[in-house]
Amino acid sequence: VRVALDVPVDSCFDYLAEVDRGDIGRRVLVPFGKRKLVGVILGLAQESGVATDKLKAAVRVYRDTQPLDDHILAVFAFCRDYYHHPIGEVVVNALPPGLRRAKAVLGRGMEVVRLTDAGRALDVTTWPARAVVKRRLMVALQAGGSMPRDAIRALSRRAPCLLRELADAGLIRVERMLAAVTNDISDPPSPPTLNSDQQAAFDAIASGLSRFVVTLLYGVTGSGKTEVYLHLTAETLARGRQALILVPEINLTPQLEATFRARFPGIAQISLHSKLSEGERAQSYLAAQSGVARIVLGTRLAVFTPLPQLGLIVVDEEQDASFKQHEGLRYSARDVAIYRAKLLAIPVVLGSATPSLESYHNARAGRYQLAQIRSRAVPDAALPEVRIVATTGNMPEGVSPPVLQALRERLERGEQSLVFINRRGYAPVLLCGQCGWISGCPRCSARLTLHAPRHRLRCHYCGLETAAPAACPECGNADLRPVGQGTQRIEARLIREFPTASILRVDRDTASSKASLQSFIDRVHGNDVNILVGTQILAKGHDFPGLTLVAVINADASLYSSDFRAEERLFAQLMQVAGRAGRAGLRGEVLVQTAFPRHPLFAALKNHEFAAFADAQLQLRREHHFPPYTYQVLLRAESLKQEAALEFTQRASALAKPLAKNVRVFDPVPAQPARIAARERWQLLLQSASRSHLQLLLNTWRPQLATLAARDVRWAIDVDPLEL
Ligand SMILES: [Zn+2]
Ligand SMILES: [Zn+2]
Repeated sequence: VRVALDVPVDSCFDYLAEVDRGDIGRRVLVPFGKRKLVGVILGLAQESGVATDKLKAAVRVYRDTQPLDDHILAVFAFCRDYYHHPIGEVVVNALPPGLRRAKAVLGRGMEVVRLTDAGRALDVTTWPARAVVKRRLMVALQAGGSMPRDAIRALSRRAPCLLRELADAGLIRVERMLAAVTNDISDPPSPPTLNSDQQAAFDAIASGLSRFVVTLLYGVTGSGKTEVYLHLTAETLARGRQALILVPEINLTPQLEATFRARFPGIAQISLHSKLSEGERAQSYLAAQSGVARIVLGTRLAVFTPLPQLGLIVVDEEQDASFKQHEGLRYSARDVAIYRAKLLAIPVVLGSATPSLESYHNARAGRYQLAQIRSRAVPDAALPEVRIVATTGNMPEGVSPPVLQALRERLERGEQSLVFINRRGYAPVLLCGQCGWISGCPRCSARLTLHAPRHRLRCHYCGLETAAPAACPECGNADLRPVGQGTQRIEARLIREFPTASILRVDRDTASSKASLQSFIDRVHGNDVNILVGTQILAKGHDFPGLTLVAVINADASLYSSDFRAEERLFAQLMQVAGRAGRAGLRGEVLVQTAFPRHPLFAALKNHEFAAFADAQLQLRREHHFPPYTYQVLLRAESLKQEAALEFTQRASALAKPLAKNVRVFDPVPAQPARIAARERWQLLLQSASRSHLQLLLNTWRPQLATLAARDVRWAIDVDPLEL
């Protein structure tokens, strides 16, 4: 057997085993050096390059689950070839961790929690208000009728502990759903009718359900793209196929899960993301692989789930950077999804309010179908009014008078506001005004952020944390100044200005777990909060009906960045955060503070003109030969020794130059930041207008890199890098 193992070697390893063709795609336990490893059988062979007396026997072949099918193996081969990554790492890392262990996992089916008649009839408002989790659990069940046991935890960490009590009270039943159980689609709730734009988008996609078409579903925030996904999913299920819905953030899955479960109560649905327990993830994966689960929701890793009847893939918020993995196999889940759809001749839908310029360019060029939803789904929910506020000179605490005034008006009217600043902590740096000392990280070429509560300095790159010095370590000056603003400083400023208002800060420091984020969101919905101060953790997807003002504090950091994608990301982020304002019949307002009010990005934002912005950006990209007009590959190298990393990239560059046909090989440059956790980072960019020329070069060049003896250098190839 030829076995793929999780080791950084390009080839498979040969072992002896009693197998037949049906065992291809099965897991196998093999001896490897002094260890035993779980791998996957990729092929059978009669001969081996290894001498017969040296060939070792496999310990065992696991036949407890179905083998990986040909389709998913072809997807792995694509990843090996296109991303130039060792096949064993591709294959084994695509398995859920529970299937990478040296033990059998019996597919024991899924446990489902169902309401009894008594549970359905229960009025939860008769329960005391402090029974928050119990109420939430019953409300979720009453919306959908049933939920997989694995999904209960997403509601609250304490929710699973309540199942016994609710079952004893006769309100629920926990049932085991065996693989033989069919999905019940006899009595689905009647879906809402689509508006004309949604209907046109649906028709355009649904007319091609049995062929490969990429559709860019472009609609402003709040335009009801999810409703189109739901209708397409219904159509896909009716054809006996499975639907795969990819979302960028784990935080968005509970909301989407509830929506899909309410619409398709009798249909087995699973979620796949990294926060599931090992057991949950393995069981969900197996339910999908067996074909029992008809709807699969998940983050980028779910794109590798074997789905025997896959009929539709949706990539929601397709522009989101989290679809790209930044370590190991540096794949784009969006692009892998498109490849899967192409192999299977099925449609793939890329949804976005601010499409990536790559996808937008493909749609304009006719390679993708463009479906557009122009209006918001709720008729009277007009797009928010955007005002650009010019900041001037001295504003140490970051909040301008017009923003304070707008906040005050919302407080008087009892409406909610969101103050958005994409930086956590109190201030991004501590400065000595006497000698110019700044708080730098000793391990990184980055600054230490001041965190207020315990007056600590923290590095957001390597995690280093120390007490902030009482006086300047260089000159002894006791008057150190925090410079710039983070969420904590804005919060402190607003508490002083509005002492009676209820102000809630939501960033990675306060909402570290999914449960705490959910409880924050519940508080906002309960109208318990007047002003939210938060980072992008809040910008994505969450609906806050009472929110009518969004104030963006510091948009300028990305405006003149060296990364050509910085403006694209900023625009998407601002559109997204602006989309939080005014959704339930109340007109929203967005204030953006900037020192560059005349920047064209803001003009486009003001007029909600994605197309104008995108066209202008594409024009610049074309002039400067940037993607999507060219393709890029980045070699990343890092080492504890500066010279080693630099020399490696220089030698790599020298090797690439003679191979370069229609490929531009740039000079090595330091990465940004140049040092993280004491590792010096260098990079080398290759660029070409021809994807195939670039791939040809890589085919020869990458094996050569492996032979460059550079033991103290870690390196990686990043095809289609998103960050330079
Ligand atoms: Zn000093
Ligand atoms: Zn650091």
